[in-house]
Amino acid sequence: MDTHRFDVIVIGAGIAGVSAAAELAAEHRVVVLEAEAAAGMHSTGRSAAMWILNYGTPDARVLTGLSRHFLMTPPAGFCDTPLVRPRSILFVAPHGQEAEFEAMLAEGSGLRVASPAEAMARVPALRPGYVAACAFEDDAYDIDVAALHQGFLRQFRRCGGTLALDQRAQTFARRDGIWQVGSAAGETFTAPVLVNAAGAWGDVVAAAAGLRPLGLTPCRRTGVIIDPAPWAVADWPVVHDVAHTWYARAEARTRLMVTPADETPMPPHDVQPDEFDIALAIDRMQQALAIEVRRVERAWAGLRTFTPDRGLAIGWDAAAPGFFWCVGQGGYGIQTSPAAGRLVADLIAGRDPGAAGAALARLDPGRFAARAAPGGGLAGD
Ligand SMILES: Cc1cc2nc3c(=O)[nH]c(=O)nc-3n(C[C@H](O)[C@H](O)[C@H](O)COP(=O)(O)OP(=O)(O)OC[C@H]3O[C@@H](n4cnc5c(N)ncnc54)[C@H](O)[C@@H]3O)c2cc1C
Repeated sequence: MDTHRFDVIVIGAGIAGVSAAAELAAEHRVVVLEAEAAAGMHSTGRSAAMWILNYGTPDARVLTGLSRHFLMTPPAGFCDTPLVRPRSILFVAPHGQEAEFEAMLAEGSGLRVASPAEAMARVPALRPGYVAACAFEDDAYDIDVAALHQGFLRQFRRCGGTLALDQRAQTFARRDGIWQVGSAAGETFTAPVLVNAAGAWGDVVAAAAGLRPLGLTPCRRTGVIIDPAPWAVADWPVVHDVAHTWYARAEARTRLMVTPADETPMPPHDVQPDEFDIALAIDRMQQALAIEVRRVERAWAGLRTFTPDRGLAIGWDAAAPGFFWCVGQGGYGIQTSPAAGRLVADLIAGRDPGAAGAALARLDPGRFAARAAPGGGLAGD
């Protein structure tokens, strides 16, 4: 079998891997190894496709904010259609969620408190008396995830990058300052730098490379598509309860996507929806919205993968030369991807990452110093 030599090997062709690869390819010979026959078929192809600034950990919010400009005004030739479309978020607090509502206002920015009457004018299906308090986040967007993902891939290929599909990275060795990665298909790829952007499999890759895992937890989240007729939902804001127990968002103009905001820990795999979560999504939505559900048109599930403190982990592994982490994107991997990809390229090139530097300490994978040792158990250091 041939050995393929590169400057950087990126593992994973989800949004994390391809956003980093697109930036890296401008100055390095880069290969992206993807286990599947198509790029983006795991978490990236299963998201709710939203950009919400008041969401996630402080580091995620920094990267989300820094991604805004790129999403609004992508570089020439990146895509043929807009990447984002405005869609407000309506945060609703039913009776009993007043404390969560106050906490959300205290920590969020750009939230506009509104009356229940305004909420009902925007979402007429809201049941009278359901909303005790509510607020709009108007600076929020739907993201065209396929266009964003394809745009990064196009930019990557234009710079000479190589996408290697059906190449599950399986064996790892470091010799004379070079990573040697053997794939399940029997190919060997070498490079001085290895970027672990394997999503839910991030710790599996690290363990195979003999490194200590970070303690990543993949969590299942379910999406359910229903026909909300006779309601015309295309221009509704996303309706989101402040306790994060469900939300509903217009889909393809005439449909509604509903989720119970589930977060069930499980090992990385091709995750499928569970009947209980589908029923829970509909039940929670129907407590707030007077929508009759005649049948579920489609349901899916995807993994949102979190580090122990729920922040992203982007940076070099202090114990393994040339090993770079880009994992823990949780529920914000799409909306953070332009800034995260740029940051990966800056750190690998040894450049000052500019405004993203504000989040560096929070992003450092080294913060999980007492993480699990390879083969299980907790490290003594
Ligand atoms: C229901 C749901 C709703 C969401 N909503 C939003 C949202 O509104 N906004 C937002 O920003 N985010 C959202 N997310 C989160 C977002 O989808 C993820 O954070 C993001 O897709 C993670 O991207 P990734 O590239 O890290 O992972 P993935 O897309 O899973 O990519 C990882 C890739 O690595 C590959 N791989 C793994 N191991 C190997 C190996 N050994 N060799 C080669 N390849 C390997 C896998 O095959 C996979 O293709 C949502 C997620 C879900 C599930």
